[in-house]
Amino acid sequence: MNRRMFLKGLTFGAAGLALPGVGSAGEKPAAGVELATLLDLNRCIGCGACVEACREANADKFPEPKKPFPPMVPKRSKPEDFSDKREERERLTPYNWLFIQTAEVDWQGERRTLNMPRRCLHCRLPPCANLCPWGAARKEANGAVRIDEGICLGGAKCRDVCPWSIPQRQSGVGLYLDLAPRLAGNGVMYKCDRCFARLASGGLPACIEACPEGVQKIGPREAIVAEAKALAEATGGYLYGLTENGGTNTIYVSPVPFEVLDAAIDKGPGKPHLKPVAGKLSGEKALAAAALLAPLAGLAAGALRLVRAAKETNEEVAKEDRHE
Ligand code: SF4
Ligand code: SF4
Ligand code: SF4
Repeated sequence: MNRRMFLKGLTFGAAGLALPGVGSAGEKPAAGVELATLLDLNRCIGCGACVEACREANADKFPEPKKPFPPMVPKRSKPEDFSDKREERERLTPYNWLFIQTAEVDWQGERRTLNMPRRCLHCRLPPCANLCPWGAARKEANGAVRIDEGICLGGAKCRDVCPWSIPQRQSGVGLYLDLAPRLAGNGVMYKCDRCFARLASGGLPACIEACPEGVQKIGPREAIVAEAKALAEATGGYLYGLTENGGTNTIYVSPVPFEVLDAAIDKGPGKPHLKPVAGKLSGEKALAAAALLAPLAGLAAGALRLVRAAKETNEEVAKEDRHE
């Protein structure tokens, strides 16, 4: 990934709006700058190149579950297993962190098909991270929200509190195999991590790099928000993600109102809605609850890291004993 490619992601093509601020400094943003992505739905042709790029870039993180699964906790829970459905591309799964949602709509006397790349929105006040009892999910300084698969116990609290139910569980993997049934948990939760490692090493998220239409761009949040608003104003478009759930670091610009799109899309497990969302953590009570939980989650995360390190050490020792 070179500087030219990075800048390609920071600016739309010639047909797009080139506004000052986004990429104009010519260098990638400094570490710790909150980044956001802008998705111009006018441009997406639904080719799926971004989905394939995401699958390829993240293939080594996909789960390899052990079967049969141990008893679930509580017993009434059902295992969630996508390991035989790895080719599924029409929804979010632990093996498909991005999918294209399509809406056929009549708008202003015209039949239109709109394609929307859907994944985690990387909320500014992410309930998934702030309410994870084990501290497995966290928001990074650059605005990405990640789940540590080495700590996650798969209790799915993150999915329960996510307004779009984005994280997806795979049973039969992760630390819970060593801890269950003493602790609740049933696998590991998976979702887009906004290509954290690629960005950290100066690259672009794989989905942005692969898109032939320049649908997405990434840059400092302030500049991205300004550009999204300007694009919406110039095209008579509509915005989603700016205020949803207290504001996200994913801003969609659409030529059709989102309530019209929401009515037209297929919704259900792994297929998120497009409704307006009030901020779950914007109330004082919710913030107080998250603040109270934070130190406990930090302690739990520390303890679970120790458990994981001990397990890895034991495995290494066993390997050496076997002279592997
Ligand atoms: S690669 Fe680009 S044009 Fe193709 S589906 Fe993804 S966002 Fe849309
Ligand atoms: S969209 Fe859901 S999973 Fe993603 S950061 Fe927001 S709350 Fe968490
Ligand atoms: S940012 Fe990376 S992990 Fe997220 S959808 Fe794009 S390619 Fe997949």
